[in-house]
Amino acid sequence: MNISQQFLTQNDCYKANRAITPRGVMVHSTAAPGVMAGAWPARWNKPRIEVAVHAFLDDRGVVQTLPWTLRGWHCGAAYSGGPSANNTHIAFEICEPNEMIFTYRPVLKRGVSGNAFAVRGVQRQLAARGLYAGAADGSYGPLTEAAVKAYQSRKNLASDGICGPGTWRALGAEPERLCAYNPDAPAVKDYFEAAYANAAALTAMLCGIYRLDPLSGNTVISHSEGYMRKIASNHADVTHWFPLHGRGMDSFRRDVKARLGSSAPAGAGAAGRPVLRRGAAGPDVRDMQALLLKAGQSLPKFGADGSFGPETENAVTAFQKARGLTIDGICGPQTWGALYA
Ligand SMILES: [Zn+2]
Repeated sequence: MNISQQFLTQNDCYKANRAITPRGVMVHSTAAPGVMAGAWPARWNKPRIEVAVHAFLDDRGVVQTLPWTLRGWHCGAAYSGGPSANNTHIAFEICEPNEMIFTYRPVLKRGVSGNAFAVRGVQRQLAARGLYAGAADGSYGPLTEAAVKAYQSRKNLASDGICGPGTWRALGAEPERLCAYNPDAPAVKDYFEAAYANAAALTAMLCGIYRLDPLSGNTVISHSEGYMRKIASNHADVTHWFPLHGRGMDSFRRDVKARLGSSAPAGAGAAGRPVLRRGAAGPDVRDMQALLLKAGQSLPKFGADGSFGPETENAVTAFQKARGLTIDGICGPQTWGALYA
């Protein structure tokens, strides 16, 4: 899993700088099809946005946008005055691919820009039915409007040239599936599987760092589950998406648990490890160095020699930075947890 950092330092939430003790992880998805992880920091790194999450992720990796222990604003105000998961949960957004636009079915009409991906799908579908001869350019002009009208009269729908719910339903049911979210299409499937795997890997890492059991209580939940449990606002994510791929939050939690279980080397673990800093030596240092190497850090001169010198300190610092931990070059409980995650 590849993690980079672009903190939302101009966001009011970042500036509020309230700390949380993480008790769980909340899974969201963006509801903005086609906007990938790298594009979100610029969108949210400004004042008066009134929303902030700890990370965005897509098929390529994770962009961390808040320190894990800084309070985010991701699931609305407390429900009926009750507790809010903002106070307890680390939150990330899984970016939805372009094709998700077909599940939202936005109203398309002449003169309204945006939703180019959806317009292109409609144009291709109408072309496949012999009704549209223009380019699939994503722009809803007179030719597209005329083609939609022709399609509507063919389907005995009100012929208004506006692609609304009834027209969407008819288009989505056409056999070519050019206006439907098709989970079996290779690109759609590949995207989902890669993003889902990154979500599970990130959640497992966080559960490792903060000693959370993904199978217990409200620990690992979606935004919609948070609503049902009265600790979040009323949103559907991710239950509008995961089931299209035969997945749900139960399978997600099991996948996180499996990753946690498999990442710890047999016969050793983070529990009971001493705090290690420069000057330390012995088998614990050697284990830590081996885990640093496994995590992709480098110890070019000395390797895992069991001696905590400047080279090891640099590797610990780099590891802490890569995982969004407090950067102090000291291997304490958080860093041990992350090494085993
Ligand atoms: Zn959400």
